[in-house]
Amino acid sequence: MTFYLLFIFVLLALVSSLAIASDPSPLHNFCVATKKSQLLVNGLTCKDPDNVNPEDFFFAGLDKSGNRRNYPWSNMTIVNAHIIPGLHTLGISIARLDFAPNGGLNPPHTHPRATEVLAVMQGSLYVGFVTTAPNFKLVATILNKGDVFVFPEGLVHFQYNIGRTPAIAYAYLSSQNPDVVPVAKTVFGSNQPISDDVLENTFHLNMETVERLEDLFWSSN
Ligand code: MN
Repeated sequence: MTFYLLFIFVLLALVSSLAIASDPSPLHNFCVATKKSQLLVNGLTCKDPDNVNPEDFFFAGLDKSGNRRNYPWSNMTIVNAHIIPGLHTLGISIARLDFAPNGGLNPPHTHPRATEVLAVMQGSLYVGFVTTAPNFKLVATILNKGDVFVFPEGLVHFQYNIGRTPAIAYAYLSSQNPDVVPVAKTVFGSNQPISDDVLENTFHLNMETVERLEDLFWSSN
């Protein structure tokens, strides 16, 4: 009897951990986010469905290039539930990525809540992700116009323009708010800084190099 109780407990724990692994499936067609209501769903309030309009589901401007003049010479224009209130509870968002010629970089990063599907519209990108322990296998390739690549949820990945022209890609992310954890910025540019001792010992670096990296990443992305 105790065994069966334990089995059910483990099963429930598994199911609940699966349920929070990605955005929850909505129990309604949509929940357009609004501040004019008291009913909270996933932390935001919902507009009366009778009062929704096309603007709640609309965004204009993804045809425009983002600023790619500064480090890391790329730009991500994310259109999430904060931008389109109608995306709230629907578990999806879209982004446009612009890369400067010859080295525009989307540095290694993860999305804690989303798988990313990337479609290249222009240019050539060297892209990849790394699997987790114990193999840490690099899965990387070169993408050209029209190519699509998948970056599984939570894994560290990057995109790098190896072409002589600007590159443009669209990313589709399986969360209304995929969030981003840039590896270098998170480790060397945190607010407040992680102890130099921790960073020196983690990366086998001397103090001067750690402080130089902290200076570099303090203000950058
Ligand atoms: Mn990404």
